[in-house]
Amino acid sequence: MSALDEEELPHSAVPQNPDSVLRGHLAAEQALRAQSELLRITLASIGDGMISTDADGRVSFINGVAEKLTGWVGADALGKPVDEVFHIVDAGSAAPLPNPVLHTLRAGTAVDIGEHALLVARDGRRFPVEDSAAPMRDAAGVSVGAVLIFRDVTERKRADADRERLRAEMESGRERIRLLVENVTDYAIIITDPEMRIVEWRGSAELITGWSAQEVLGKAADLIFTQADRDAGFPEREAARARSEGRAEDKRWHLRKDGSQFFGDGVMTALRGPGGELQGFGKLVRDATDRRRTEEALLDADRRKDEFIALLAHELRNPLAPIRNGLQVMRLAGDDAVALAQVRAMMERQLGHMVRLIDDLLDVSRISQDRMELRRARVPLSEIVANAVETARPVIDGAGHQLTVSLPAAPVFLYADLTRLAQVLSNLLTNSAKYTGRGGHIQLTGKRVGDSVELSVRDDGIGIPAAALPRVFDMFSQVDRTTERSSGGLGIGLALVKGLVGMHGGSVVAHSAGPGKGSTFTISLPALQAVNEADQADSVEPPSILSRRQRRILVVDDNVDSADTLVGILNFLGHQVQTAHDGVEAVAAAAQFSPEVILMDVGMPRMGGYEATRLIRQRTVGRAPLIIAVTGWGQDSDRAQSREAGCDGHLVKPVALADLEMLIDQMDDSDR
Ligand code: ADP
Repeated sequence: MSALDEEELPHSAVPQNPDSVLRGHLAAEQALRAQSELLRITLASIGDGMISTDADGRVSFINGVAEKLTGWVGADALGKPVDEVFHIVDAGSAAPLPNPVLHTLRAGTAVDIGEHALLVARDGRRFPVEDSAAPMRDAAGVSVGAVLIFRDVTERKRADADRERLRAEMESGRERIRLLVENVTDYAIIITDPEMRIVEWRGSAELITGWSAQEVLGKAADLIFTQADRDAGFPEREAARARSEGRAEDKRWHLRKDGSQFFGDGVMTALRGPGGELQGFGKLVRDATDRRRTEEALLDADRRKDEFIALLAHELRNPLAPIRNGLQVMRLAGDDAVALAQVRAMMERQLGHMVRLIDDLLDVSRISQDRMELRRARVPLSEIVANAVETARPVIDGAGHQLTVSLPAAPVFLYADLTRLAQVLSNLLTNSAKYTGRGGHIQLTGKRVGDSVELSVRDDGIGIPAAALPRVFDMFSQVDRTTERSSGGLGIGLALVKGLVGMHGGSVVAHSAGPGKGSTFTISLPALQAVNEADQADSVEPPSILSRRQRRILVVDDNVDSADTLVGILNFLGHQVQTAHDGVEAVAAAAQFSPEVILMDVGMPRMGGYEATRLIRQRTVGRAPLIIAVTGWGQDSDRAQSREAGCDGHLVKPVALADLEMLIDQMDDSDR
């Protein structure tokens, strides 16, 4: 198999006796064969590929590994020119490379081929090899050929490439982290030594704290902590937690260089070396001041809302007690007309108070949602004032105050919603009455100032502390809740005043010289140009009169008490009335009774009022009834909904008789 088997090996000295010569010869031959076999096994077992050639570069031996790598079996390879069996090309260009064996034969010295050789196997496979060739000489130093040792370095090359890639990645990773640390804008990156002295001050540490790295390096890290926190053991407490738990989250107000504070939201990490030894602490802190302020504002609003709800419940419950007592009195009073009249007046007052509270509340919500609609017309100032005084009069008189009103002699007109501006003035008058000790003085003055009219309400009451003045127009703001509770209010009257005046293009301010010195509220509103007498004649409609015509009225309400009381009133007014307690009954009653007017509750079991209205509208033959929705919901969207369902009007519970009459009167008008 191998050419070396045939090689002559050096002889030992031979004895002269032919027998012994023969024996010696045999022994020598045996030894030689054994040695040759050993050599063959050795060469075949070598982990590297090995090819040897004769002096002409023809293959004289090829071991197993070389056979496997080149794809040549010995029988084919032996005697072949070595560059045919061991064919290498450049890894980059694929150009043939000079054969190292031929090279070594020529040069007479050993050669290594470079890193870039690819061995092209007999079947065309290519893989990287590393090899070296050396000349073989006989004892006399004559070149008898060359030996080539080579190995497949695919794995090693791959491992080298992986290592290189990893190194490059780590390098660029380090670079990326450096860039991150330098460019981070949201976080301060602070590193301290184990004694909490600052050693790194990066990211937006300077931006957030105002201190530059030069100013703080080497200093104790507690410099961004407030005195109160330092006294409470920070930042050491944080560090202790980071040490025991690995990390410590922390959210607190911190100090800036200029003494102001920022809300830092961060995490501190214990930095440990490979052996677990503490090398310091790293802290990442974000400036979360804005978010914190928003949270605090929300919490505050939430707290105020809770307070408000408690106050609202209290204020709504207040009038209920006298009303309930009134009912008791009515039962006991029997026919005592005086007592009955008194208690009724009291109950009306309390009910009126409650309705006003709820109306105010809804109005404020409408204004804040920008859904308040003004019904503006040209109205005389005197009428607005008269309306307001009429509303506030009972409270003013009740407290024994003296009210003086002075208006310009020449009539002043405003383009305004009469009801809403009267509401504004009556709110101010009522406040003056509430916040002035018994027997006080209230002055309502109006004067023309250029294109505007200025209205002021002045009292000599408890006044308003300067600190509270800027906030009195805020919703739910009350200077003194304890005083207020006894006065009955929700702290929304002035918010309403401001909102309504603003909607009229005006402004309002409050003045007070301080507690006990009285208050003045001044409103400025745009006035219309003075006009001649004829223009002023478009007076307001006379107040509505009780409807005298008898009507067939269907009252639909699942609340039996509510339905019955309404029936009582309508009967008293001379109408013919029937009731239904849900939508299904209403539809049936409408068919039978042919009502001219239906007062329709909205939320009812079985079938709601809107559904019933639609059905009644569909099924009515002949004259369509006037259907008025009567509900607890009074938002514009609720009104729109009832209009959509086919209702002609929308009244909010509790229904005022006057409103009901007005709607029925309108029907009378259209009859005529
Ligand atoms: P309410 O009267 O329901 O509390 P307002 O919004 O009308 O709500 O008034 C807000 C607060 O302003 C009152 O609680 C009161 O403290 C103060 N205030 C209003 N008007 C006067 C006034 N004429 N004199 C003194 N304080 C007043």
